[in-house]
Amino acid sequence: MHMSGLLAGKTALVAGVANRWSIAYSIAQAFRREGATLLLTYQGERLKSQVEELGAELGAARILNCDVTNDAELAALVAVLEAEFPKLDIVVHSIAFANKEDLSRPFLETSRDGFLLSQNVSSYSLVAMARALTPLMTDGGSIMTLTYLGATRVVENYNVMGVAKAALEACVRYLAADLGPRNIRVNAISAGPIKTASARGIKDFSKVLDGVAQHAPLRRNCDPAEVGDTAVFLGSNLGRGVTGNTIFVDAGFQIMGL
Ligand code: NAP
Repeated sequence: MHMSGLLAGKTALVAGVANRWSIAYSIAQAFRREGATLLLTYQGERLKSQVEELGAELGAARILNCDVTNDAELAALVAVLEAEFPKLDIVVHSIAFANKEDLSRPFLETSRDGFLLSQNVSSYSLVAMARALTPLMTDGGSIMTLTYLGATRVVENYNVMGVAKAALEACVRYLAADLGPRNIRVNAISAGPIKTASARGIKDFSKVLDGVAQHAPLRRNCDPAEVGDTAVFLGSNLGRGVTGNTIFVDAGFQIMGL
């Protein structure tokens, strides 16, 4: 697609690229197309070489390790960014985790540990990232995260992750209120179901994809590139009046009743 430079002069950190199917990968692609300086973070040594390869393809300026549940790693990330980049404009949080057994058995069976783990990785991490990184967003900016309809509706097998997304969407609103006076906007993109590594952890995920294709107003699933373009909107000056919001990029599925 033709570049229009909507993000020229902006530095964007994208957390959550694990592979080519990651939603964060599509967002990173769209950001580069629009001229952003791109920084990627990944979790741990296991992914290092893989993400470095993808980062090189994407033309990323820097690829850094950061497990978002580890405050020391967040602080180390901030130290590197502070030393190397004059300011940060955009932060993308595209991270979630829950135990596989909590995405298949009845929600009633969720363990305390499984509940807290999913909250720590999938919702609190947005707060931790915002607190660590906003001091670098000296010229205002845009923070965004990825959520799903299971936050507000019961979606079979989404279970503990739905509760984590509900908390995440509430975090978006409270962070938007705290950071608005600094002209930092905070929003969530609620993507329709997309076949990724994380989605494979959800039992019967292909049924969800089929249901959306049949019933969504656009009669298809969403394309991760559409999420990327919405992220460009939120990160750019075009989105300057939007904060505390959850924007659905789901082929319209969420408006449907039966
Ligand atoms: P993905 O490719 O598996 O991305 C999830 C990312 O989270 C991975 O890069 C994963 O790294 C990372 N992560 C997990 N724990 C982490 C930690 N402690 N520190 C740093 N990174 C960590 O799957 P995805 O579908 O693109 O998911 C991205 C976001 O979109 C998630 O928030 C997901 O809930 C949301 N979302 C997905 C869909 C969908 O249908 N796919 C729909 C709506 C919203 P590892 O691989 O190392 O664990």
